[in-house]
Amino acid sequence: MHEMGSTAKVKSLEISDDGVVTVEWGDGHRSQYDPKYLRLNCACAECIEEWSRRQLLDPATVPADIRAEDYLMVGRYAVQFLWTDGHYTGIYPFKMLRSLCRCRPCQDAKGK
Ligand SMILES: [Zn+2]
Repeated sequence: MHEMGSTAKVKSLEISDDGVVTVEWGDGHRSQYDPKYLRLNCACAECIEEWSRRQLLDPATVPADIRAEDYLMVGRYAVQFLWTDGHYTGIYPFKMLRSLCRCRPCQDAKGK
């Protein structure tokens, strides 16, 4: 059966001891994210001005050793990280998370 958006479905999510977030996707793809990179891409209203998409978050305020302490699944479409800088309002829809994947095939697909 054809399932809509199976590429953007998180099968599993792991946070390693060194903070790297690994996501395994419904289509078998694996993405690895640097915690600081993820934190900097937070799109919540505190970090991004909604109407202009201007970044309100000052990257300099994000510690280099930031970690995702924990995460929660938000329904079936998003994941919310609890960051060690106390920020926890950021919700990362699976689709957006997948688009943040920096691996070669994902970047190539985006360029098309
Ligand atoms: Zn945020």
